[in-house]
Amino acid sequence: MSSQTRSGRASFGAKLSDVDIEAIRRFVMNADTFDLLDRVTVLRHEMELEALKLMESELDHRGIEPAMIQDYRAERASEVVFRSDGSIPRCCECDRVAVRKKWGWHRMYGKVPVFPMVKYFCDEHAPDRDQPAE
Ligand SMILES: [Zn+2]
Repeated sequence: MSSQTRSGRASFGAKLSDVDIEAIRRFVMNADTFDLLDRVTVLRHEMELEALKLMESELDHRGIEPAMIQDYRAERASEVVFRSDGSIPRCCECDRVAVRKKWGWHRMYGKVPVFPMVKYFCDEHAPDRDQPAE
């Protein structure tokens, strides 16, 4: 796989500045290992090539071997939910990959129900963790 097809954003010609790369480096060093694993697997198409390199390097530094990443990719591919356009939503409570979806209400000021909407949740924030995704 060529480096240009691994990162859709890089193909637009925008190059990350040194400041951007330093910010990504700080994020990666402080990121949860499972967050990094999601980003180099199921969210790979959303990542900049430079960010992917930093994340893969950090995972290697943490002792995560390529075979473990492959196993994680296979496992997560069957768990995550997809929107109809094929994109992977993030949890409405945090930024993790969503594994559950549930109808709920968009609430004005967080209280007054305005209209129904699909809400997405990660493993940790799923309100009905024992039920499969709808
Ligand atoms: Zn969450």
